[in-house]
Amino acid sequence: MTQNSAQTGTLYIISAPSGAGKSSLIKAYLNLSDNHPTKVSISHTTRAPRPGEQHGEHYYFVDKAEFEVMISRDDFVEHAQVYENYYGTSRQAIEGNLAAGIDIFLDIDWQGAQQVRAKMPSAKSIFILPPSLTELENRLFQRGQDSPETIQKRMLKAKSEISHYSEYDYLIINDNFEQSLFELRCIIQTERLTLDKQSQQHHALLESLLK
Ligand code: 5GP
Repeated sequence: MTQNSAQTGTLYIISAPSGAGKSSLIKAYLNLSDNHPTKVSISHTTRAPRPGEQHGEHYYFVDKAEFEVMISRDDFVEHAQVYENYYGTSRQAIEGNLAAGIDIFLDIDWQGAQQVRAKMPSAKSIFILPPSLTELENRLFQRGQDSPETIQKRMLKAKSEISHYSEYDYLIINDNFEQSLFELRCIIQTERLTLDKQSQQHHALLESLLK
């Protein structure tokens, strides 16, 4: 296969209500041996680390003052308040990687998704839905991380998150995990075959075919 010039990376926005299986799907995709080079953007947040979370690996944990300095310097592509905390995606976390041909996953909420779409229209957005509200609630209980009160709060938040599904390019209903992983791979493969990406990748071939 002729590959004379590299494709730039694609920015994928991935949103879901808590418990829909977003993190597991992203993790499984990254562990596939045949995927295109992909990184998950590491966000900044003012929330406290949970047990086991590492600064610079799960998030950059910063205080509110530091976060506000970053906002004033225009360091963020998007930022939003989720629950009581601030979360944001820095330009630095994505721009160099995309230019180097690396795909980036942004694990962000609908508010951030709206801002990224406005600034970077070529970004593709994927919304992951649970097969039912009952199943979502079951999964939150099975995770064993939250009290029943917190689960009720997450369920209310989930409904408000789900109300934004129609703003996304792709929907995955995560009923069967393997099927959902297959669908995520299909979306990414489809994006790599668009005219725009294929023309970047096969620029020299396309010129030679028209000589
Ligand atoms: P958690 O605190 O459970 O890690 O994340 C809570 C929510 O914040 C999730 O829905 C996650 O997608 C969202 N989130 C994480 N990082 C960012 C970010 O940089 N920007 C926005 N807008 N949302 C984020």
